[in-house]
Amino acid sequence: MSERTLVLVKPDGVSRGLVGEVIARIERKGLTLAALELRTVDRATAEQHYAEHDGKPFFGDLVEFITGGPLVAIVVEGTRAIPAFRQLAGGTDPVEKATPGTIRGDFGLEVQFNLVHGSDSPESAEREIKLWFPAL
Ligand code: GDP
Ligand code: MG
Repeated sequence: MSERTLVLVKPDGVSRGLVGEVIARIERKGLTLAALELRTVDRATAEQHYAEHDGKPFFGDLVEFITGGPLVAIVVEGTRAIPAFRQLAGGTDPVEKATPGTIRGDFGLEVQFNLVHGSDSPESAEREIKLWFPAL
């Protein structure tokens, strides 16, 4: 019953030196890494990745932010990997929703700069893994 999910350590997580911290938590949970790359993403890929948010007031800022520096894209694999990583990440708002003990709850302050992305469903995971790692 293994599944795969797309995780990003966003540019704020990379610039703050939290890549190792995020990977350590993924591995300690019992999940494994199937692919990993440091990459600066172009606007077209960022807009496709966040297509569901196109038209929202924060969309422009979000695309600017995600293209603004290197990020780490990871395919994470394991039993219930999709909800398991969402659990590790915590809620979208690092203060109002994410609880201490989660990545966002422990290290984040602002909604936009919430350090990590994780696919939210099997459909999203399939779409996002194809977008970020077409060879997989
Ligand atoms: P996620 O699945 O928990 O990452 O959250 P969403 O899919 O709802 O939003 C995607 C990303 O957009 C979030 O992780 C945030 O970085 C950003 N974001 C979401 N809501 C807001 C908002 O209200 N304001 C800003 N500035 N950014 C937001
Ligand atoms: Mg989302």
